[in-house]
Amino acid sequence: MERVYFDYAATAPTDPRVIEAMKPYFFDYFGNPSSLHSFGQEARQAIENSRASVAQFLGAKPEEIMFTSGGTESDNTALFGLAQALEPKGNHIIISNIEHHAVLEPAKILEKSGFSVSYIPVDKQGIIDPQAIKKIISPKTIIISIMHANNEIGTIQPIAEIGAIAREKGVIFHTDAVQTVGHIPTKVDDLKVDLLSLSAHKFYGPKGVGALYIRKGTRISRFLHGGDQEAGKRASTHNTPGIVGLGEALNLCSPFLEKEAKEQTVLRDKIIKTIPEKIPDCFLNGHPSKRLPNNVNFSFKYIEGESIILNLDILGIAASTGSACTSSSLEPSHVLLALGLTHELAHGSLRLTIGRWSKIKDVDYLLEQLPAIIEKLRKMSPLYPG
Ligand code: PLP
Repeated sequence: MERVYFDYAATAPTDPRVIEAMKPYFFDYFGNPSSLHSFGQEARQAIENSRASVAQFLGAKPEEIMFTSGGTESDNTALFGLAQALEPKGNHIIISNIEHHAVLEPAKILEKSGFSVSYIPVDKQGIIDPQAIKKIISPKTIIISIMHANNEIGTIQPIAEIGAIAREKGVIFHTDAVQTVGHIPTKVDDLKVDLLSLSAHKFYGPKGVGALYIRKGTRISRFLHGGDQEAGKRASTHNTPGIVGLGEALNLCSPFLEKEAKEQTVLRDKIIKTIPEKIPDCFLNGHPSKRLPNNVNFSFKYIEGESIILNLDILGIAASTGSACTSSSLEPSHVLLALGLTHELAHGSLRLTIGRWSKIKDVDYLLEQLPAIIEKLRKMSPLYPG
């Protein structure tokens, strides 16, 4: 059976060209980049080349890029590192209530240790009002962390507007851009951010490697202690193949950013238009246009998202209900609840995310199979009035 993949937001396949670029760094150029001999220096050069690629992609300086083990570490470093460094100035942190757990959990831990955290709500379509942030900034506010685009519903936040407010008020501004880097423009000056998290496996690079952009002059404490790698900002031997893969993945995205986004938007919009035509009692979660080019998220009344996923999987279609990180949890998505959905509707969600290798025939196959699955599940549901 041919399988089709609609879960690119969870992770994307590593581009074979990225794998080729990584290969020499496992055996031929295996040196520790911190070693002074030539083995080490070859690896060091590859890391610096990758750093230059990331910096160019973000419109930043190479010394402003710190490599990490992925999006989670970048987000944790931003929150804990800033909170520790800026504590003498204040203890107030602002985040949104639809952040990824990689931001939400550190914020909760900081709250328990005495910081005060404000959770900004979103409107029914999942968008934050920058003025709501402006209103609650106080002299004690030290960090604003708002994600660029949401991983479940794909909504893109007005980051540049929030950045302008943060600058006016002198507050450090971090964005989790894990879902946007490599997909839509993410120049740090245009976004007006001081810190930005990214993760390679979301843009066809390898898993387990990411980066944190830290604007020059930003005070931040280190998060991983040990050696003095990454200019003393992060300990641990560099993941040379991963870092090379990250840089190469961005080099490959760069010239085709707009083209890939346009192609994916066509597929996305076909799904968004066709599902409600074929299936009654369903609606789109998130904003109709301020959303990632690759994201579709629907709620279907009377049934559970998990059952839809399992039935699709039997037919070779991989999709998800929301975040892969919490898919084993029975709790409804905090993002869907934040939109005002009832628990029942939040449980009935289906996220379909497309990517570099998605094809129109995959979309057609999905649209052919989905209505029958929904009908079958509804007939079995005690909640279904029909
Ligand atoms: N932030 C967002 C918005 C994400 O979607 C993810 C991964 O799904 C992460 C952070 C965590 O990234 P990683 O898997 O690289 O740790």
